[in-house]
Amino acid sequence: MRILLVDDSSTMRRIQKTQLDGLGITDVLEAENGEHALRQIADHMPIDIVLLDWNMPVMDGITTLQNIRSNSAYSGIKVIMCTSESEKTKVVEALKNGANNYIVKPFTPEALKEKVLG
Ligand SMILES: [Mg+2]
Repeated sequence: MRILLVDDSSTMRRIQKTQLDGLGITDVLEAENGEHALRQIADHMPIDIVLLDWNMPVMDGITTLQNIRSNSAYSGIKVIMCTSESEKTKVVEALKNGANNYIVKPFTPEALKEKVLG
């Protein structure tokens, strides 16, 4: 399983990477914004799951999601939006735009396991 972590916070990416490692998932790519994420996807398909931050410079999460979903070659990618507690109301918008699921930050290894492997 190959996962792409997209977050402008390197600390957040490091935490997520460590949590995934604990689940035995070591094929993990990173991107610091949406534009970088789209390049990573283009260069490293097949990708199974994208963990997608909402607020990022250059290209935010919802725009990135729309870009992914506009490409039929990427229809197999599962997109999980990573939202803060205050952004939970925006989840409906993400689901309408083709997100598969969401997870509220900061998340526990158990919550991540359920979303990624569940
Ligand atoms: Mg962010």
